[in-house]
Amino acid sequence: MKTITNRQLFLNHVAQTSPAPLMLEIERAAGVKLFSADGKGYLDLIAGISVSNLGHSHPKVVNAVQQQAEKYMHLMVYGEFVESPQVKYASKLAEFLPARLNNVYFTNSGTEATEGALKLAKRVTGRTQLVSFKNGYHGSTQGALSVMGDETFKRSFRPLLPDTLQLTYGNEEELCNITSKTAAVIIETVQAESGITVPSKRFMQQLREVCTKTGALLILDEAQTGLGRTGKLFGFEHYGIVPDILLLAKALGGGMPLGAFIAAKEVMGALTENPVLGHITTFGGHPVCCAAGLAAFEALIEEELVPQVEPKGKLFEELLNHPQIKSKHRIGLMMALEFESFEMNKQIIDRCIENGVLTDWFLFAPQCMRIAPPFIITEEEIRWACRVIVGSIDQIKG
Ligand code: PMP
Repeated sequence: MKTITNRQLFLNHVAQTSPAPLMLEIERAAGVKLFSADGKGYLDLIAGISVSNLGHSHPKVVNAVQQQAEKYMHLMVYGEFVESPQVKYASKLAEFLPARLNNVYFTNSGTEATEGALKLAKRVTGRTQLVSFKNGYHGSTQGALSVMGDETFKRSFRPLLPDTLQLTYGNEEELCNITSKTAAVIIETVQAESGITVPSKRFMQQLREVCTKTGALLILDEAQTGLGRTGKLFGFEHYGIVPDILLLAKALGGGMPLGAFIAAKEVMGALTENPVLGHITTFGGHPVCCAAGLAAFEALIEEELVPQVEPKGKLFEELLNHPQIKSKHRIGLMMALEFESFEMNKQIIDRCIENGVLTDWFLFAPQCMRIAPPFIITEEEIRWACRVIVGSIDQIKG
């Protein structure tokens, strides 16, 4: 009898959203390395899209998961029981955040954090307009899709939320479109999927000012930038501003599914009445995810990883030189290398994978290669990875 491979079963029974999935069959992962079923090792330069900041299977995170799973897993819907992993993690985050951001609503994912934040802003302001930015990404559910800044991904799913407006990221003149009708402005602190676009400090400060003046709530989406990726614990620290609502996800769960929207307790209080249970989730803030997230957060601080992010990013930037690289965009350990076209980028990415380096492209910038490795990557590994990337570019030229 013919045996059906996992790869065939994957294609037959696991829903496919990509016409060309990478199809790597990974057996285990440790630190900065992924190992496929055939024993080959891959240096991970994308960290599951900015998730595995501490590397894979960090012993403290694995231990926290095991310990919590033995104590209890799901007990009750969000917000009814006092569950110590949630309490400890929320308190820890509040300790490291500006005083105003002291109240955490844990969700299952980034997109659910977006949904919760948009609802909260509408509820607090009594307004409906949601302002966002072209090339911005905040998730794939319908509210998040409504504020996404890319028509290609939205077009087929209309009707979406009414009363939305997309401005140009970084354009100070367009900020006058934020008015007393605006419930919220949602923006990435650094736009990731556009191929790493870093706004000016002046733009971000003006945005903060306009929101304060008009009473629109400023939602900073730090799903990718949060927890050290930009070289600071939170991306907004680069601009000297504080949001009304902060979104975290990706690395928040230390590799487990966890997101959060965070605001002042008085603001969050709007979800408690009229109606009660203003946002409901069964699994949001799952005790095992919170235990994993807390262990990862503590390791991030104890191992002093955040100060290593900028010098390591800089080394990548210095070493990645090739005539085919049209531009480089970077902050901390999030970087985009721009090539002539998606076709060229894809060929280079495929060649890098063959050569043992895992990388990827960006949703709204398919011509750009993504570099966002775990923070624990060593200088030697960076040097090796850069040699492989430059060598792979050479290989596709010929
Ligand atoms: N916001 C940003 C900035 C993101 O990059 C992402 C995920 N790529 C999300 C929100 C959505 O997160 P999730 O995939 O967990 O829903």
